[in-house]
Amino acid sequence: MKLFLDRHKTLLPRVDRVYLLTRVMVLAALGWFALRSYDGADRLLFQIVLGTFVIHLVVLYAAVKGRFDLKLAYLSTIVYDLILIPTLILYTGGINSSFYLLYYLTVSVAAYVLTFWFAGIVTALIVASYLVVSREALGLETMFDLSLRMGFVVVFFSTISYASEYMRRSEGRLLKLFNTLNRRTSELEKSQAQLEMIYENTRILASILDTDGVVKEVVRIVGEVLQYRCHALIFRDRWGNCYYRARSERGRNNYHLKAIDLDSAELLARVCKIGESVSINDIANRDDFTPLADDTRSVMLVPLVSHGTVNGVLAAESNEVGYFGEKHVQMLSVVARSTALALENAELHRRTEELTTIDELTETYNYRFFVQKLEEEKRRALRYNLPLSLVMVDIDWFKKLNDSYGHEAGNVVLRNLSAIIKTCIRDVDIFARYGGEEFAVILPQTGLIEAKKIGERIRSQIEAASINAGATQQVKVTVSVGVSSFPENGKSHEELVSVTDQALYRAKGEGRNLVCSI
Ligand code: GH3
Ligand code: MG
Ligand code: MG
Repeated sequence: MKLFLDRHKTLLPRVDRVYLLTRVMVLAALGWFALRSYDGADRLLFQIVLGTFVIHLVVLYAAVKGRFDLKLAYLSTIVYDLILIPTLILYTGGINSSFYLLYYLTVSVAAYVLTFWFAGIVTALIVASYLVVSREALGLETMFDLSLRMGFVVVFFSTISYASEYMRRSEGRLLKLFNTLNRRTSELEKSQAQLEMIYENTRILASILDTDGVVKEVVRIVGEVLQYRCHALIFRDRWGNCYYRARSERGRNNYHLKAIDLDSAELLARVCKIGESVSINDIANRDDFTPLADDTRSVMLVPLVSHGTVNGVLAAESNEVGYFGEKHVQMLSVVARSTALALENAELHRRTEELTTIDELTETYNYRFFVQKLEEEKRRALRYNLPLSLVMVDIDWFKKLNDSYGHEAGNVVLRNLSAIIKTCIRDVDIFARYGGEEFAVILPQTGLIEAKKIGERIRSQIEAASINAGATQQVKVTVSVGVSSFPENGKSHEELVSVTDQALYRAKGEGRNLVCSI
């Protein structure tokens, strides 16, 4: 009870109703006592008992209202239940009181240690046995008197027992509730801290202006902050093809581009199509997703959506079944939103930069951009140990063409010729006007053999084409092509350009309309 009163003040009003009943009974006992024994000798005792009882009730009331320490209420209850009532019984009853006291203690102990019903049965048995055994000695009137007193005590302690059991049960329920609440609170605090950390980290993303930088930072956040052992950043191009942009497996990061066959990754295709996150509790025996790790059991895929279009997917894997719950999906979604924004930002930045780097006449990149890109691509090739090639194209006898058709016609030829070259190369290749009537193509992830094939394709396409040199006239031109590759032909971009130039010079020397390497 003490524990209860101290800790769970909220239940007091209900307990008080039960408890009040027991107090009313004490009052009834006092009344009965007054009727029977109110003579000169007992007056003082009666006054003490009644006075103390009133004080007890006041203390109880004040404690419930919060004016007193609840411990005081508890103390006054003990004084009443354990000291005053037994004293009362002792004082009034001779041999019968001894029984009362014994009875009183039995009931208290039984009610406290055992259950309420069990205590009731024990009490009833004791009362019945006593009455049966003593029925001759007691006489009818004493028996009646005794039964009345016993009846009162039975009701009194039953109520007390009920109250204590009720309190114990309430306390148990309440403690359980508190435990759940505590657990939930600490879970909430943990995920709030995690979310704050994610927000803090994803804020950095907004300041990164190049796609590679964004990719690297996202891989770091998902690995270090979310601590997923296997995860991937998947890009989706405008034709719907998907490829791994980055893969991370137990801390090992891989930035090689790798195409994904969507026929064997239906799950991924679905996420791209519906634009909503998917979490699979167990992918064993499923053939709609190929995980990064062999022992992966659960996966979570969150789309990267910008302007209603799915531009990619963040994937995470775990070797535990059902690892990715709602909380994980929420956290990865926060990262995904920032990633999509940062990628969009980087793309915008790239395009803005592009605008200052475009050659007006041919609408290809200018020399400045070419040099910058070549250096970047060279560094990337070096970092990831990838091949890289450079192709330079120079129009043969262009001076003559200018002389014959005029400078303006030369310009038109330059424009149309660059359009032909564009059709011969991939999206990822960087095509620039190197200067005058010279063009350059940077071919990332391409070796010398492949680069020569592309050079040859450019040469032959131009040779085969009739190029407009104005509204009515068409001309035939040829080009000479020089090809070189990193790292075999040069370690720096200057060296690479110089070697390609030499190759081009060789092509010119060997008769033009040729593709040469050193
Ligand atoms: P080859 O390369 O085969 O040795 O002969 P070429 O006549 O092309 O010689 P070269 O590369 O030295 O000449 C470049 C010429 O290209 C000189 C210049 O008149 C012409 N040219 C350079 N820039 C432009 C331009 O923007 N518009 C036009 N119409 N002509 C240009
Ligand atoms: Mg030239
Ligand atoms: Mg030339």
